[in-house]
Order: sequence, then C-alpha cells, then structure tokens
Amino acid sequence: MAYKAFRTKLKLSTQQKPVMAQHAGYSRWVYNWGLKLWEQAYKDGLKPSVGMLKKFFTNHVKPQYQWMNQLSSKVYQYAFINLGEAIARFFAKKGKSPRFKKKGKADRFTIDNSGAPIKVGGLRHKLPFIGWVRTYEALPECITKKVTISQQAGDWYLSFHIEIPEASPTPKSIDRVGVDLGVNALATLSTGAVYPNLKAYRKAKHKLAKLQRLASRKQKGSNNRHKANIKVARQHRRVASIRNDYLHKITTYLAKNHGEVVIEDLNVSGMLANHKLASAIADCGFYEFRRQLEYKCERYGSSLVVVDRFYPSSQICSNCGYRQKMPLKERVYICPCCNVSRDRDLNAAINLSNWGRLDPGKPVEQVPPTVCDETGSKRFKQLCLF
Ligand SMILES: [Zn+2]
Repeated sequence: MAYKAFRTKLKLSTQQKPVMAQHAGYSRWVYNWGLKLWEQAYKDGLKPSVGMLKKFFTNHVKPQYQWMNQLSSKVYQYAFINLGEAIARFFAKKGKSPRFKKKGKADRFTIDNSGAPIKVGGLRHKLPFIGWVRTYEALPECITKKVTISQQAGDWYLSFHIEIPEASPTPKSIDRVGVDLGVNALATLSTGAVYPNLKAYRKAKHKLAKLQRLASRKQKGSNNRHKANIKVARQHRRVASIRNDYLHKITTYLAKNHGEVVIEDLNVSGMLANHKLASAIADCGFYEFRRQLEYKCERYGSSLVVVDRFYPSSQICSNCGYRQKMPLKERVYICPCCNVSRDRDLNAAINLSNWGRLDPGKPVEQVPPTVCDETGSKRFKQLCLF
C-alpha cells in the first residue's frame, strides 16, 4: 500500500479557533513536559523510555490539571508518540536533539477515533471530539485513521493521509532522459523540453522581500509588527507552494514517461558558496526536486540515476566528446572539434542522458526544443543554434 497525503485550509468559526489553539497548547505542554524530564534523566546518564514517562504522566500529572480533562485525551498520547520519534531520530543520528516547542511556532495536534475510521469528504467533516469542521476546498470521499490540525500564519489546516493502491508502472515513451538543473531554466531535458523559471514565482519572491522590509521597519513587539509578520509568513507560504506545484509537475512528467531519469548529484553547499548562484539555487529546491523524483520513479516504475557531481557534463561536447572549459557566462557550447553549437544546458542534459554509455559522445537525434510554460501546455520555440 502507498499513501497519499492531504493538507487543506480549515474554515473555522470564531468559537472553533480557540478550541484548536487549546488543543495545540495541550500538545505542546505535554511534549515540553516530557522532553524536560527526559533531558534531566539523560544528563544523569539514564535513558528513560517515553512509554515510562507517559505512564507517569497519566497516573500522577494529568489528574492534577483539571483543564486537560476538557480536551481530547488523544492529544497527549500523540504528543508522546511525537516525542518518542524525535528522540529515536536523535539516537539514529538523523536529527538534532529534540527542541522545546514554542507557542505560535508549528502549533499542532493529532487526534484519532480510537481505532474507528474517520470519514472525510465534501466540505464538512466530522472529526472525533472536535465535531463538525468546514474546509474551503471540497475533499474526495475517503477514510483515514488520524488527522493533524496545525496552524500556520494565523490559519488552521487539516492534514491526513489515506491508503491508496500501489501505482502501477506507466508505459514509457522515452527510454532515457538527462535532466540539467540550472539557473537560467529550472530544468532542461535532453529531449529538448525546457522548464523555464516561473514568472509568478519571481513576482511572489519580489513581493516577499518588500513585505519583509516593511515588517522590519515596524517597532519590535508592536501589534503592527505582528500583523506585518503574518503577512510575511503568508507570502512565504505562497512562494513555497508555487515552487512545489511546479516541481511536482516536472517530476511527475519525468517519472511517468521515461524509463530512466539521469540527474546530477549537485553539491548544493559548494554552489551556495558561489555568490552569483546562491539565491537561484537555494530557491529552486533541488533537494525537494530529487526527493520527489526518488519516490515517483519508484511509484511509476522508472529508475533514477544520480551521476557523480564531478562528471563534467557542461564541459563535454555532447556530439563528439571533445572537452573544454565552459565559464558560466558562456550560454552556448560551441565545439571547435565538430563545429556543433548547442544551448549550454541542453548540451549538459544530453551528456547526462549519455552518461555511462560506452560512447559518451554518441550523437542524439536532433529535435527542436519544447518550452514547457507555466501552465504545463507546450509551445515550440527554437532555442539552440544547430
Ligand atoms: Zn564536438
């Protein structure tokens, strides 16, 4: 079984918002209580199990706090589960030592229906303990085991996941594709398809910078500063969702239609040191791109090939295999050996698609590049000079 995750904005009444905030506060209180105790014991050389902490909490701490009885008891159980996972990640060296949660930052809580399924669907959903809630967006009819409610930039969100049948492999019209991730175009494919950087994204980034400047001018701790910070957080969310939607579109297309997808293992930290590249690369979300490709290739039955970052994909002539230095400002690869001239990124993408083959400079079929625009429709545009 595979899982599909949903996250959607809740349309809460003025009475419901404080209920959500109380539950999130309960979750935070329990998490921090458990973490504090655990940290003290850990400093004393002990390794108390989260199960023990929870037992102690249930029997001796919870009865002392009347307000906890007014809220769903699932909340504290999941708070301990989360704490246990954070500690396990720490010991597995997959995460930093768990941190205390702060109010207003990642406010969230999880509840379930004591083993019974929770039905969601349409615009109204009945949640255990909380009761009926509305969402702005209609959801497909489905059932889930638990739901998480979280707050971001002053809005509340409902998230859950459902089990879906394992996706079956899709027919592949193209055997192998090389993908060059760059600064000028976000992705250039060896087949000639080009995904340009998004205008909507640049605009949103620009507005974000403006809002940040405005916020920084407001007096610290003032109500106006707080309001401005919410605007900044909302814009941050917009920027991230534009970017992620676009990345999803590209990675789904790649995984569904190609037998093998070849990408470069980018040394992102090394590239960030290069000042000119910094912003564009940090923005483009290369890690996210690779993460999506990894699970989608598995889902649709294609394989992902990650090429060593020292492979000089931009320096090799994709036509004859000649190698020369290619400073970043050179946008077109002109080969002194075979006289081919190709867009720099396309040349690199073709090299990636040829990677590992016996003849690295094997000529590929020449096709006019396709520019995939922001809406996903395709227009043809001659980009390189053949
Ligand atoms: Zn050449």
